[in-house]
Amino acid sequence: MGSLRDCTWILGLTDYRVVELTRDEDGRVVIDVERRGIRRYVCSGCGRRTGRVRDAKVRTWDDLPWAERPVALRYPLRRLWCRHCGIRTERVVFADPHARLTRRFRQRIGLDCQSMPTSHAAVRHAVSWGTARRAERAFLDAWDRTRPKHRPRHLGVDEIQRGKGQRFWTVLSDVVRGEVIGLQQDRSEASLRALLNDRMDARQRVAVEAVCMDMHRPYLNVVTEVLRRAEAVFDKFHVLQHASTALDEMRRQEFFRAGPAMREHGRGKRWLLLRRWKTLRGSKRAELRTLFAANRRLFKAYVLREQLDRLWTYKTRTGVLNFLNGWCDALRWQRLPEMERLGEFLFKHLDGIAAYCDHQVRFGVVESINTTIKAVLRRARGMRDEPMLVLKLKWATARPIRSARDVMRFLHPEGVHSLR
Ligand SMILES: [Zn+2]
Repeated sequence: MGSLRDCTWILGLTDYRVVELTRDEDGRVVIDVERRGIRRYVCSGCGRRTGRVRDAKVRTWDDLPWAERPVALRYPLRRLWCRHCGIRTERVVFADPHARLTRRFRQRIGLDCQSMPTSHAAVRHAVSWGTARRAERAFLDAWDRTRPKHRPRHLGVDEIQRGKGQRFWTVLSDVVRGEVIGLQQDRSEASLRALLNDRMDARQRVAVEAVCMDMHRPYLNVVTEVLRRAEAVFDKFHVLQHASTALDEMRRQEFFRAGPAMREHGRGKRWLLLRRWKTLRGSKRAELRTLFAANRRLFKAYVLREQLDRLWTYKTRTGVLNFLNGWCDALRWQRLPEMERLGEFLFKHLDGIAAYCDHQVRFGVVESINTTIKAVLRRARGMRDEPMLVLKLKWATARPIRSARDVMRFLHPEGVHSLR
């Protein structure tokens, strides 16, 4: 070991051999490389090969460090006479045109930026913040451009709140794979329409069979307008949230407007009441039992709420309808106005609830995507650059790195090849 041939092997760039290794005054390893084999060069304008060299200009690219020592590649970049483009520089396989970093170094920085803030990645690789951010952008762009285009059967539409105040965003996702497709400001018809039309092509739109969403009217309008074949499936969590709100309103009625003695009894029980029975442990269950002993009406309402889970267990739409009829019959003579209103609400949205029989959408995915979005935003300390944020979210939810082989693929000197 120790010869230039070994250095060439370590460097691992096909078509390039190491000519000389030097140390510069900054402590960098400078590696002079030269083309080997056929003396024809690729035009950076049109991609055709030519042997007509006008002149050469020595340029350097930062590369991955060798044993933590920074490395600069030095190569005389040719200027070519191209028959089609005129005078153009040569295209090298290890870097993009105009880039000052090799592609694999850029990939390494971009990859690190997905698990740490950009400022940390910049320090770690001894580059400026701007360089790291540009590397990250190029990395994510290349990945998103080259990865396979899926045609999701089930979409998810949800709104998230970002920042202070009532600033809402619409999130469109592929709930089959659990990936973000796009993000758009506001929660209006226009924002969802823009997402469906810009982020998806016609082939993808036609493949959609169901859209999981909450009962937000503008979203429903756009789905029936843009995705003719697709059916709306109302998100279980949102439906049950309405049930919990009704239950909470009952608690307020029963305890807080019934004098100070009862009020004391019902204080601080809100979260207890909103929890599901199956997730409660011993002491909490006992606490809930005493609460119910004080008020049977609340008990009745709680049981009715718990029963609603069964709406999503039926195989046919008539099954759902029969269950809901039975549920409302149980309400009769109980004098529970909040629950009666909830029953009306459920009947009004029966189509979207019962659609689950035909389209078994993965409800949990929408929530887990929301959690990922919040985590990415927090790590980035907020983000102003929208396209960049969408790319980062796509990456975080698609999880393209699942094995060491995936990392190797991303760090390949000649380009990105992603399977996901
Ligand atoms: Zn050309």
